[in-house]
Amino acid sequence: MSIDSLTALVRTIADFPKPGIQFRDITTLLADGAGFRELVDHMARIVEPLDPDLVVGVEARGFILAAALAHALGKGFVPVRKAGKLPGRTVGIDYVLEYGADRLELHEGQVPRGARVLLVDDLIATGGTAQAAAQLLREQGANVLMAIFAIDLPDLGGRLALEADGVATAAIMA
Ligand code: 5GP
Repeated sequence: MSIDSLTALVRTIADFPKPGIQFRDITTLLADGAGFRELVDHMARIVEPLDPDLVVGVEARGFILAAALAHALGKGFVPVRKAGKLPGRTVGIDYVLEYGADRLELHEGQVPRGARVLLVDDLIATGGTAQAAAQLLREQGANVLMAIFAIDLPDLGGRLALEADGVATAAIMA
């Protein structure tokens, strides 16, 4: 399946979650068996040579792709969640959004010092979420090998921001 055909499986929903936002909805791609497999296969081909120790996914849609990739690579999956969702002791990072602030958390000790990790999310826009997740992982002593996304919104400069932080990036669709 071509990247164009994959992209055609993503729908755009106007004014979600707020007026003026064109939301890229990947649930239509995920519901297509061939499309979902192709997307994960594309991502796996890019990250396989990196041979990560762990695959880290960002809540919530990042979990879907990170878990599928972890399975494809035979590696463990670790969730990064919004504040207050993880049951065990956590480490976290506060970060600033366009309007307001948020916090990402990780189970303490789940990413060992020196671990070579892959960061996964469904989409990168401004890069704020991925930058915060990468910083949190680095604070644990992890080596963030790459941050990979199904979709990049290049006009928002997120990948450039991540690369400026020294994090290699990849995306399948724009
Ligand atoms: P950023 O922090 O890069 O500005 O935004 C990316 C984060 O917001 C990701 O966790 C992503 O899931 C979510 N996000 C922002 N806009 C969209 C969108 O249009 N579609 C989807 N599926 N997720 C989005």
